[in-house]
Amino acid sequence: MMVQMVYASEATRPMTKEDLLGILAACKENNPKRLITGVLFYGQGRFIQCLEGPRSEVNELYLQIASDDRHRHCELYLFQDAKQRLFAEWSMGYVSMTKVNKNLFLKYGLGEHLDTSKLSGQQSLEFLKECRDVIGVVSAEVV
Ligand code: FAD
Repeated sequence: MMVQMVYASEATRPMTKEDLLGILAACKENNPKRLITGVLFYGQGRFIQCLEGPRSEVNELYLQIASDDRHRHCELYLFQDAKQRLFAEWSMGYVSMTKVNKNLFLKYGLGEHLDTSKLSGQQSLEFLKECRDVIGVVSAEVV
C-alpha cells in the first residue's frame, strides 16, 4: 500500500546551509533503500515535508524524523493512500523559501511568517506540488 503524508514542524534553531545539507545527505542515503520519495520545504524556521512510499516505511521514517532534535512540534497534516507518486524523481527534493515567488505564500494565506497552521491537509500537499512545479527540476541547491 502506497501512501503520501505531509507534516509541518518548527526548527529548534535557524538552519545553516550545513544543517540542511546534513539532512539532505541522510535523505539521499536512506530514502532510496526504503523506496521513499518526497519533498522538503524550509523557510522562516519552518519545515513542511511530504514523504511518499510504502505505508510501513513512511510510518517508520516519520517516527524517526519526529524525534530528531533539529526540529519540534511535528504536526501531521495529511496521511492518505496514493495511487501514484508526486515526487517520484526525488529521494528528497529540497525547496528553499528564497526560490519560491511570494505570491505562492499569499495564495495559501501563509503570510510573512509562514503560519502553516492555516493550511488544510490537502492544501499543504498542493502547496508542495506548486513548489515542485516552480522549481521544475531537481534542486540540490540549499541557499
Ligand atoms: P546518522 O548516521 O546518525 O546521521 C546522519 C547525519 O545526520 C550525520 O551527519 C549526523 O551527524 C547528522 N545528524 C543526525 N542527527 C542529528 C542531530 N540531531 N543534529 C545534527 N546532526 C545530526 N532522514 C531520512 O533518512 N529521510 C528523510 O526524509 C529525512 N527528513 C528529515 C527532515 C527533517 C526536517 C529533519 C530535521 C530530519 C530529517 N531526516 C531524514 C533525518 C533523520 O531525522 C535522521 O537524522 C536520519 O534519518 C538518521 O540517519 P542515519 O541513520 O544515517 O543517521
